[in-house]
Parts: sequence; structure tokens; C-alpha cells
Amino acid sequence: MIQEANLIEVFCAVQGEGPYVGVRQAFVRFSGCNLNCSYCDTPVAPPGSCKYESPSKPISFLHVKNPMGPASVDKLIESYDKIHSVSLTGGEPLLNADFISALSTDVPLYLESNMTLPDMARKVKDKVSYVSGDVKLDPGLPEDELELHLKNTIKCFSILRNTDCRDCFCKVVVTSKTSMDDLILIIEDIHRYLSCVILQPVTQEHMAASPSFLLDCQYRLLDIVDTRIIPQTHKMWGCL
Ligand code: SF4
Repeated sequence: MIQEANLIEVFCAVQGEGPYVGVRQAFVRFSGCNLNCSYCDTPVAPPGSCKYESPSKPISFLHVKNPMGPASVDKLIESYDKIHSVSLTGGEPLLNADFISALSTDVPLYLESNMTLPDMARKVKDKVSYVSGDVKLDPGLPEDELELHLKNTIKCFSILRNTDCRDCFCKVVVTSKTSMDDLILIIEDIHRYLSCVILQPVTQEHMAASPSFLLDCQYRLLDIVDTRIIPQTHKMWGCL
């Protein structure tokens, strides 16, 4: 039986984060997440219907009933033209790995994941062309689950690693609570699977790390792997 998925929204906009900032993408936002990050600003509860941005009337939304099958989502994606890729985002898209495997669009898939579900990662590894994988240093989990969380993160990066046909990079949201030692330890474990590391300053001002801390992190990580500081850009100019 083909898995259906509860989607929050499908829309066309511009990638606002990481090394592909500025490319035009279709976004497919899944509901549901297995983590509870302190800075999360994404609604994850399943809605009764999915908001779908009309291709002919930008910023105007129609409502499509949930749950949806892969063929219906293929059609929505293909209603947008000139797109670089399809961002599969959330929530946590890997909770819907079977659904992602059943998509048949020709547009390259760009997975944005919290990288904590290795069995699901295995199901989509030959399907996705880009992996924007998070390292969650503050995942909102009980203390006794943190070790397994980090093990799963390393396993996910090894499965979805950078290859000639898949660009895998890592994104770390840096807050005032980020530990430099923890950051360096995890990047040492995964750097061989990555094209680069993106340090993304947290957007919420009350949780912000100092610019000097961010620069110091970059300086230290450059001994290990290409590391860039790139803030979220879409919010700067009011894009979705
Ligand atoms: S992994 Fe993403 S969607 Fe899930 S709680 Fe963290 S920030 Fe929110």
C-alpha cells in the first residue's frame, strides 16, 4: 500500500539557507517531528488540509485535503516551473521515507532533515540529490537519550554522505547555549561525509550567540572542513 502523508504546505519560493541560498525551489512541508528543539518555529501538528500556493497567483493559497498520496504531490510540484529542486522539509520529512521513495517527479530532491532516523535515511539515499543535514546539539531530548541521538546523527550522515551524485552538507544552528567542544567533537566524527559545514546564527534574538563566538567556531572548524557562516536570508526580505 502506498503511504500517504499529512502536509502543512506546498509552495514556490527561494531557498533561504545554506550554500544554495537564492535558488528557486518548490517546498513540500511535512507535518510531524521526532524532536523538540528549543528554537523550533515550525508548526508540526497535522492540519486537516494542506495549503497549496497557486502557480498563477503567487502568495494566494488553495486548500487540498490531507492526507495526500505521492502522485497528487508530484502534480503540485510540476505545476511550478523553472525550479532548481524540491525542498522536502518539515517537521521531519524522513518520517515519511516511503512516501518520498514513491515520488516520481524528475525535479531533483533536496532533503532538509534532522538526521536522526538512519533506517528511514537508507530508504531515500538513492532518491535525493541534495542533503541539508542538521546537527542538533539541543534536541530537547532527555539526558539518557542524547548518546543514541548523536550515534544516529553520525549514522545518518554516513548513509546520506556526499558523493559525485549527491551533495551532503551539514547545518548547525548556533545559539548562546552551543558548546564549542560538543560542536568540534561531532564535526570531527562526520566531516568526511560532508561537502561543507554551515554555521547558522539562531534567528531569535534572545537566544543569539555573540558574533565573536561564531567567528571563533568557524576558525576552529576550518582546520577540519570547509565551514561558512550563513544566516537565514529569506526572513530578511519577507519571503516565505
Ligand atoms: S528538528 Fe526541526 S522541526 Fe523538529 S523540532 Fe527541531 S527545529 Fe523543529
